[in-house]
Amino acid sequence: MILVSSCLAGMKVRYNGTDCLDETIQKLLNENKAIAVCPELLGGFSTPREPAEIIGGNGEDVLAGTAKVVDRSGTDVTDMYLEGAYITLAKAQEVSATMVVLKENSPSCGSAMIYNGEFKGKKIAGNGVTTALLRKNGIKVTSEENWLL
Ligand code: SF4
Repeated sequence: MILVSSCLAGMKVRYNGTDCLDETIQKLLNENKAIAVCPELLGGFSTPREPAEIIGGNGEDVLAGTAKVVDRSGTDVTDMYLEGAYITLAKAQEVSATMVVLKENSPSCGSAMIYNGEFKGKKIAGNGVTTALLRKNGIKVTSEENWLL
């Protein structure tokens, strides 16, 4: 079974109420070859919500307690990001996911790039909180940008 980000499957779950539809990924879902998860909704957020970025590092640093996730108003939302990550990990293990394709650049789902914490649209190399937790548990994570390669 393949685990994919809900927004890639066309669900309007992003912070601003939009999706990031990838038709190939949506087709996998329609053919029951994939299941969709949104770590942020699983962590207790709703849509729309404020955008958030990791400050002080990347997802691995958040897991280690040396970085945090903060929304644009300055509220520390780290605990909700961790909650969503652990629920996503449980789902991936439950379905014995053989592939995980998550949305690039997200503070939850990014697997190569994330925003740098300044809310200015600047990206840095790094992974999101959910990706970091999945990888820490031996699960391979890729993104919509390179999963077919
Ligand atoms: Fe949800 Fe991940 Fe998509 Fe963000 S990138 S909306 S957390 S599935």
